[in-house]
Amino acid sequence: MTTSGTAGDGSGRADARTGARVLDATRHPGRRLALTFDDGPNPPDTTRLLAVLRAHGVRAVFFLCGDPALAHPEVVRAIAAGGHVLGNHSMHHDDMSGWPPERIRADLLRTNAAIRAAVPGVPIPYFRAPYGSWGRSPEVARDLGMWSLGWRLAIGDWEPPGTDELVRRLTDGAAPGSVILMHDGGGDRGQTVSAVERFVPRFQALGWSFDDPELGG
Ligand SMILES: [Zn+2]
Repeated sequence: MTTSGTAGDGSGRADARTGARVLDATRHPGRRLALTFDDGPNPPDTTRLLAVLRAHGVRAVFFLCGDPALAHPEVVRAIAAGGHVLGNHSMHHDDMSGWPPERIRADLLRTNAAIRAAVPGVPIPYFRAPYGSWGRSPEVARDLGMWSLGWRLAIGDWEPPGTDELVRRLTDGAAPGSVILMHDGGGDRGQTVSAVERFVPRFQALGWSFDDPELGG
């Protein structure tokens, strides 16, 4: 359950027929970053990540898959209770790039239902396709009231290459207005959580802040 890809390949596309865009920027300009975490909920890493984000006053987007959401509803509730934003990352982390719209729609609806089984009525404003393999999914997500969110920086935390290396990739790759892709699920993500724990206060001390992602026009 990893999301392969490198910086910049998660976005920047538009569907010529519907205008459904894949977004990748923060909501406000300047020295701001938007943190996103995919493939959870995944205790204990998600639980520790929530404590780190709370300690530094940071709100993030959590792109949940339906299967782990059904397995760990208490963690879905903790994410929502922490004031974070919820996103739809498909039911089973399938590559949807070759799927017809009706199949994508059924999967996205099931995923939203799995999330809302834990937190009834919670807003789910964003969708992200597994592997960044968008196919027809942006137009389907838009019909269901969700914006498609890609990323500008991915740090390869699915490898995983060690906490020091993850901190280095975050520090070197962070640019104003970037959405950053990381993972709290899909495996042992202890290195990711430790990297966030070091990176966030360091960048806050340098005058950066953390923002929500943009909304489509
Ligand atoms: Zn993923």
